[in-house]
Amino acid sequence: MPLFEYECLACHAEFTEIVLPWEKDKVIVCPRCHGREVKKLVSSFSYHQSEQDRLSQIDTRAPRDESYYRDDRNIGLWAKKRAQELGVDLGTKFDEVVEKARTGKIFDEYDK
Ligand SMILES: [Zn+2]
Repeated sequence: MPLFEYECLACHAEFTEIVLPWEKDKVIVCPRCHGREVKKLVSSFSYHQSEQDRLSQIDTRAPRDESYYRDDRNIGLWAKKRAQELGVDLGTKFDEVVEKARTGKIFDEYDK
């Protein structure tokens, strides 16, 4: 189900909308105050997707907002996807680096 979560910028209500692929330009209206200024949130449903699913859904040409990076599992995925598109084999070394970036260990190394 193409479910998306939105936050109304006027009243901060959070709600879920079904947006079908051909309804990309659909105007999302807040159910509480009927405001049209809404922000898309990272869907809680996406937390249950496999990494492969998440990879396939990344559009490397689309701008990503801050909320994308609030989920640290997204860190590295974008780069991975981009590399796939470019046909670059990042190998296992890349996974290591991503893992370090996710856990913050990458910063430890720079401190030495
Ligand atoms: Zn509202």
